[in-house]
Amino acid sequence: MRYIEPHAHMVSRTTDDYTALVMAGCKAVCEPAFWAGFDRSSVHGFRDYFCQLTDYEPRRAAKFQLPHYSWICINAKEAEDPVFANEVIELIPEFLQRQNVLGVGEIGLNKNSVNEVAIFEKQVALAIEHDQLILVHTPHLEDKLKGTRLILDILKSHQGLDPNRVLIDHVEEHTIRQVLDQGFWGGITLYPESKCTPPRAVDMLEHYGDTNRLWMNSACDWGVSDPLALPKAILELRRRGFSETAIDRFVYQNPVEFLSQSPNFVVPE
Ligand SMILES: [Zn+2]
Repeated sequence: MRYIEPHAHMVSRTTDDYTALVMAGCKAVCEPAFWAGFDRSSVHGFRDYFCQLTDYEPRRAAKFQLPHYSWICINAKEAEDPVFANEVIELIPEFLQRQNVLGVGEIGLNKNSVNEVAIFEKQVALAIEHDQLILVHTPHLEDKLKGTRLILDILKSHQGLDPNRVLIDHVEEHTIRQVLDQGFWGGITLYPESKCTPPRAVDMLEHYGDTNRLWMNSACDWGVSDPLALPKAILELRRRGFSETAIDRFVYQNPVEFLSQSPNFVVPE
């Protein structure tokens, strides 16, 4: 079994988790910039975090022979103060030059507020200007449908944007179709406790009936989460009768295809 973990917040995980990922067949791990479990008190906190994502964490992963990639942005949860958020955005171009950076993400919406929308739009424009891939976080629970529609409308309003270079993450039954039908990529996030379990993710796949432009991820972080959620979902796919070829396409080749649009992504052996 080989797979790519395209969304994991490894700065909050232990070295045992790196060992477990590698032993399960993970060939590369990608880490979007996000909320760190607390609000940072200054722009310097973001600079340190971006250094961690582009310098320290890839070196930590390399000790386990695991390639580590990052996405850079200010997340929606910390985008409520526009002055502060704009200071952080000014830092981003410098970090887009770093060797392990795949694009701008995970940007998006959390509570669908006016300030979040403004900062999201600004970062979409920044990604287009710097010819970067985009990774989008969609809100959870009752805000998801409205937030996803809002995000798709904003993305489509940017003339220079190729939907094939944007992945909308945390899709669910009621949002997967509109994301994929409009030409974007979709991510299914697996959570051990709430939201999307591996069986529910596979239900979604069977229902949608097409695994092109889709990936799965664990989104593991500092909260209750499972860095091995993806290999567990692979077991569920096998149990439901998906062929090894179809599984490989979904958990390895699809992420490789999307991520290879960034010149910094090296296809793992
Ligand atoms: Zn995340």
